[in-house]
Amino acid sequence: MKNKVVVVTGVPGVGGTTVTQKAMDILSEEGLNYKMVNFGSAMFDVANEEGLASDRDQMRKLDPETQKRIQKMAGRKIAEMSKESPVAVDTHSTVKTPKGYLPGLPAWVLTELNPDIVIVVETDGDEILMRRMSDESRKRDLETTASIEEHQFMNRAAAMSYGVLTGATVKIVKNKNGLVDNAVEELMSVLR
Ligand code: AMP
Ligand code: MG
Repeated sequence: MKNKVVVVTGVPGVGGTTVTQKAMDILSEEGLNYKMVNFGSAMFDVANEEGLASDRDQMRKLDPETQKRIQKMAGRKIAEMSKESPVAVDTHSTVKTPKGYLPGLPAWVLTELNPDIVIVVETDGDEILMRRMSDESRKRDLETTASIEEHQFMNRAAAMSYGVLTGATVKIVKNKNGLVDNAVEELMSVLR
């Protein structure tokens, strides 16, 4: 039987990693063990090795062809992992690059991963802007709320196209300020 593959997406700063980690911790206490894999980390292993980027936030500025080559390598590695156990992939529906929105899961990555569910973590643009401004650990892009909202719109569109191509369901999970536990509950309810 095929292991479950869950793809968790959201614009940078929405809290996708946090919500996913919390959900995975609780689910593992219940005996449901997903392996959580971060797509960006798998890409950064390659980018750093090749001397293309010295921090993960530089990767989205690389030439799109380079990003796609590394993306494909990461996708293949994660697809291999999904043969061993259920996986939750922490990634992006689209990546905002200087040359436009890069699909996080172009066809050649999507078909290898073959997800069952695509989660889109969202909140209001102004909340995301505030979260980015207070995140010292990352080099987050500072954008207007309108531009963040546009990115979220594109993410929904891309996520649904992933659903159309694979039959995956697409679930929108709200991660509003102060309500992270609600987001965790909502995420867990579709993973159980
Ligand atoms: P994150 O830590 O989730 O913000 O990811 C760090 C970086 O990894 C992103 O800014 C992108 O450059 C890259 N990345 C993550 N997932 C993907 C993907 N599916 N396709 C292309 N690039 C990705
Ligand atoms: Mg993240």
